[in-house]
Amino acid sequence: MLKIIVLMGAPGAGKGTQARLLRERLGLPHISTGDMFRAMKESHTPLAEELRLILDSGVLVPDELTIRVVEERTSKPDCRNGYVLDGFPRTPAQADMLETLAAGQGHPLVAVLVDVPFDILEKRVTGRRNCPVCGEIYNVYFKPPKFDEVCDLHPSAKLHRRADDNAETIKTRLATYGQETQPLIEYYERTSRLRRVDGTRGVEAIYADIENAVTGDK
Ligand code: AMP
Repeated sequence: MLKIIVLMGAPGAGKGTQARLLRERLGLPHISTGDMFRAMKESHTPLAEELRLILDSGVLVPDELTIRVVEERTSKPDCRNGYVLDGFPRTPAQADMLETLAAGQGHPLVAVLVDVPFDILEKRVTGRRNCPVCGEIYNVYFKPPKFDEVCDLHPSAKLHRRADDNAETIKTRLATYGQETQPLIEYYERTSRLRRVDGTRGVEAIYADIENAVTGDK
C-alpha cells in the first residue's frame, strides 16, 4: 500500500492517537509537524524562541518553515512506502506543496477527516495528557490513566500536559483551524479524496473505519 495518508481534524479530534495506531499496525511512519515543532522549540536557538511564542499562542508556524521541515522528513528512506501526516497540510500553500511532493514520489493521497463536533473538542484538549516516555495519550475525562497523572505502563513517569492545551490557547487554535484548515477539507472532497469518519466513538471503532478507508480502493 503506497499511500500518503493525511489525517485531518480539529485540535483534539484524536489525530495523534489514530496516527500512532496506524504506525503500529500498518508500519507507516507518523509525521506530526506539531511534534516536530515541539521538539525544535526545546533547543537553545533564536528559532526555538520564535517557535515557543508561536506555539504557545496557538497561531500557525510560517508556511516556508513548515514546508521545509516536511520536505526534509518525507525524503527519508522510511517514507518510501508511504506515510501518515498528522497536522499537515493546514493552509492552501501547504496543500499545494503536498500535491507536488506526492506527484514526485508517485504516491496517491487519501485524506481522512476525524469528525468531532466543536463543543466536545474543548474538553478533549484541556483533558489531554501524554506520557513523556512512550508518548501514550490519555484524557482525564475520556481515557483516564489507572492512577492520577501517571502512565499505566511507566508509573514513574508523570504525565505531561502540552503548553498550548489550555482553555485560552485552544480558542485561537480552533479559530485558526476554522479559517485556514477547514477549506482544505472541501478541497479534498471536491477532488474525491476525502473520507469522513465519526470521531466521537471509541478509539478502536474509529481506527477500524480509518483502516478501511485507507486500505480500500473506494
Ligand atoms: P498540533 O500538535 O498539530 O496541534 O500543532 C501544534 C502547533 O504547532 C500548532 O498550533 C501550530 O502552531 C504548529 N503547527 C503544527 N503543524 C503546523 C502546520 N502544518 N502549519 C503551521 N503550523 C503548524
